[in-house]
Amino acid sequence: MTTIKHHISDEILTGYAAGVLPEAFDLAVATHLSLCDECRARAMALEAVGGAVLEETETAEMAPGALDAVLARVAGTAPEAPPAAQPGTVRRKDSVLPMPLAEYAGGSLDKVAWRSVGGGVMQAVVARGDDGATARLLYIPGGTEVPDHSHHGLEMTLVLDGAFCDRGQRYGRGDVQIADETVDHTPVAEPGAACICLAVTEGRLKFSGLLPRLAQPFLRI
Ligand SMILES: [Zn+2]
Repeated sequence: MTTIKHHISDEILTGYAAGVLPEAFDLAVATHLSLCDECRARAMALEAVGGAVLEETETAEMAPGALDAVLARVAGTAPEAPPAAQPGTVRRKDSVLPMPLAEYAGGSLDKVAWRSVGGGVMQAVVARGDDGATARLLYIPGGTEVPDHSHHGLEMTLVLDGAFCDRGQRYGRGDVQIADETVDHTPVAEPGAACICLAVTEGRLKFSGLLPRLAQPFLRI
């Protein structure tokens, strides 16, 4: 049974299905999908629509690589799929980090290269693209404010363990908070256990404003 209440927006899920998101955001969406049956079904429906559109046209204007990415996703062989385990290594399932994310973070939570950022808070960058979009793991002690709110562009926060509260809402494992610079917010980890989350931010290149246009050829909307 899923208890996820806060999901991926239509706009971002469409961008994911069209293969136009920066890698850091792709990672956060894929991680949410691994925890959320509801969004996984929505993504599969979008990918099916996109696949049908691509089959009937060869002239759709798309971002470079988007066609390959969509076709690969439809075929279930995404090129960004994590490499297979090294021969001889035993990969055990991590209870906090779902598989797409665990591959980026060294395999499991105890392998994460945390760096202290003060106040008991720790972070570890797990993906940063040429576009500047960055995915980082955050470890926030219970009762502590979630730091590093640059408020430059879109940010997406996915809870992996524990919970935080913000603007009267509670975000637990699997929940996603999507915010931009227009949202003045102060997430605070719930008292008690630490909150571990994946926080993704845009870089200098703001894709969020372009998203409707990027996804347009994909869905012909
Ligand atoms: Zn969802």
